[in-house]
Amino acid sequence: MDNVLTQLRDIVGEPWVLTGADMAGYDRDWTGAYISSPLAVVRPVSTKEVSRIVALAYEHEIPVVAMSGNTGLTGATQTHGGLIIALDRMTKIRSLRPDARVVVLEAGVILAQLHAAAEEHGLIFPMTFGAKGSARIGGMLGTNAGGSNVLKYGNMRDLCLGIEVVLPNGEILDLMTELHKDNSGYDLRDLMIGSEGTLGIITAACLTLVERPLAYATAMIAVPDLGSALRILHRLQKETGGAVEAYEYMPAAYMRAFQELRPELRPTFEQIYAVNILVEMGTTISELAHEQEDGTRPLNQNIEAILAQYLEEGTILDASIAQNETQRQAMWEVREAAAEISLKTTPLVNNDIAVPVDKVGYFIETMDAQIAETWPEAKTMYVAHLGDGNIHYVVWPNVDDDGVKNDIMEAVEDLVAELGGSFSAEHGIGLGKRPSMARRKLSAALNVMRAIKSALDPKNIMNPGKVLPE
Ligand SMILES: Cc1cc2nc3c(=O)[nH]c(=O)nc-3n(C[C@H](O)[C@H](O)[C@H](O)COP(=O)(O)OP(=O)(O)OC[C@H]3O[C@@H](n4cnc5c(N)ncnc54)[C@H](O)[C@@H]3O)c2cc1C
Repeated sequence: MDNVLTQLRDIVGEPWVLTGADMAGYDRDWTGAYISSPLAVVRPVSTKEVSRIVALAYEHEIPVVAMSGNTGLTGATQTHGGLIIALDRMTKIRSLRPDARVVVLEAGVILAQLHAAAEEHGLIFPMTFGAKGSARIGGMLGTNAGGSNVLKYGNMRDLCLGIEVVLPNGEILDLMTELHKDNSGYDLRDLMIGSEGTLGIITAACLTLVERPLAYATAMIAVPDLGSALRILHRLQKETGGAVEAYEYMPAAYMRAFQELRPELRPTFEQIYAVNILVEMGTTISELAHEQEDGTRPLNQNIEAILAQYLEEGTILDASIAQNETQRQAMWEVREAAAEISLKTTPLVNNDIAVPVDKVGYFIETMDAQIAETWPEAKTMYVAHLGDGNIHYVVWPNVDDDGVKNDIMEAVEDLVAELGGSFSAEHGIGLGKRPSMARRKLSAALNVMRAIKSALDPKNIMNPGKVLPE
């Protein structure tokens, strides 16, 4: 192995091969639940270097694990004895072409860095979520990340035109197209996206940018129940010309938990409602965004009028509209504390599930009732991207018993399956969801995935032991 370390130092330079205590920070995941003992952490600065590292690992049959921001929530970057290839020095934006609405960038660019670069051109990269200050493009593509505004803009697959990938034998596969239409054979880009570093290492990508909304109207609304919440979303879309970008559900228990977490902040409403929704609408129409003499904008006036009407009819129970950017950010702070709130209590059964959008209410009511009846000691905590049917449904069983945790997980998966849903919506499989993969994924689908994996990675060096069950 000394020989391999020497060769790695030759490839990237002495300072960029970390071993022993220098690997601190790379040797555990964001949750702290998955600890690694890597052979070394290598920090390349170019695609060529990644290619040479992977070729070396292939020759010596050493597992390689791609790591970008290390904010993944499924233990997908854990390794014992493998090489971690950290993309955190590959942070160049190669080009940003406003007219083509594309940005070509390296895999180590942090999401917030991309946001800032797009803003300079009056554009946005529309994906955003709580880990935006740390998650990097390579990992976001590796997991096919979603987030708060998939409702309007889609997930990473929808926002990616091309990628550059280093294959398990070190070969560079250049799929860096900027085309919106390309039906020339199998879609290898979409195969790589979401494969969690098990088929190749993404070193660069070409992503789409969109027009930056000139103004946002952001509100917290309280509605009578989840069924009406979906109808309100459809009505809002109709009455605003499809301007709703985010529609995020938070129940009473979540609002209480946030108050406990951040007692210094004033709660949005004086009372705690059962169904709270953070709704955000954006406009690119200058007449709607134009600030009037009194500081208001027509967009906000429109939303105020719409919500006042809903209040009068009893369609909604309460509403608070952000009057400025500070208030808007404060509303988002409530929603973006979800991972912190859900993961701080242990033991927990963590579910990132998707059901058809009109089944979210049924799922939550049915599951809550079943949990209360079967495990009366347990508590639930959840938030949902209501507009796309993704629920982060966490159960705190109040007892550290693997049998109980497994039974709860299976009960959740049973109902998800019955509703035609998925046991993994946006976080991926990694290690944590492999048992669900074994239980729930169609065996025909698993067989195809295994065939692809062994064709591309015959020595099984790319993030082995992740995604596919034994
Ligand atoms: C506070 C918080 C909020 C979050 N909110 C959301 C959310 O709303 N939506 C959401 O989807 N996720 C969310 N996540 C999860 C996480 O941020 C995403 O999964 C993100 O996409 C991971 O990016 P990363 O750069 O941290 O990847 P990493 O954690 O470094 O890696 C994740 C996976 O991708 C693989 N990978 C990394 N780099 C590459 C590469 N270059 N090529 C190929 N594979 C690679 C890794 O091997 C691993 O399998 C949240 C996490 C936190 C901590």
